[in-house]
Amino acid sequence: MSTLRFFKPEEFACKCGCGRGYDDMDAGLLRMLDEARALAGIPFSLSSAFRCAKHNKAVGGVADSAHTHGYAVDIKCTSSHYRFRIISALLEAGFRRIGEKPVEHRARKYGRSKFGLERMLKGYLDLISVLFMSHFGRSPMYFFGSLGTLMFLIGGGTTVWIIAAKIWKQVHELPLRAVTDQPLFYLAILAIILGVQLFLAGFLGELINRGSSDRNKYLIDKTL
Ligand SMILES: [Zn+2]
Repeated sequence: MSTLRFFKPEEFACKCGCGRGYDDMDAGLLRMLDEARALAGIPFSLSSAFRCAKHNKAVGGVADSAHTHGYAVDIKCTSSHYRFRIISALLEAGFRRIGEKPVEHRARKYGRSKFGLERMLKGYLDLISVLFMSHFGRSPMYFFGSLGTLMFLIGGGTTVWIIAAKIWKQVHELPLRAVTDQPLFYLAILAIILGVQLFLAGFLGELINRGSSDRNKYLIDKTL
């Protein structure tokens, strides 16, 4: 049974599928690795841990590599900032033999790439959803209601102003344009309609939200 806080036994398995791995790892190394992981505070993604002799040869490891004795792990690292945190934590946890090896990138021969323009669009939409959910997920009225009210006021104010200006010009017998001849009038009506729509959207969201059974479920970080 594993007593590690941050790693599952499967993470140390030999990649050839021979079934060896966690039980062949050095217990002291596992304890120190777990400790380093706690100190670093970032995930350690193990690209290679235990290797049986056959697998070690297949991946081009040196003969009698520390991996084959359960005495080495490879930690994936994607930025210099992470490298600093990982290495500092390893040193603090007591590791004294730390090496670094650049990864060889090769062109994709098979399958399709997950990167591309489609990903950018999805990323943007996901970002908007997350921002929206975290800011207004519980009270959509704050967003739609305030935006709707603002648009309604702008539209209403403009309409009142256009009509008042017309009446004032009529009273003073000045040349005037018909209200329906002014583009601003139509824009004002558009703003009023949009304002009402936004307000309604916020109100409906609020109703749905209040009726939802998991409205008051929170992610609990710590129970005091
Ligand atoms: Zn193996």
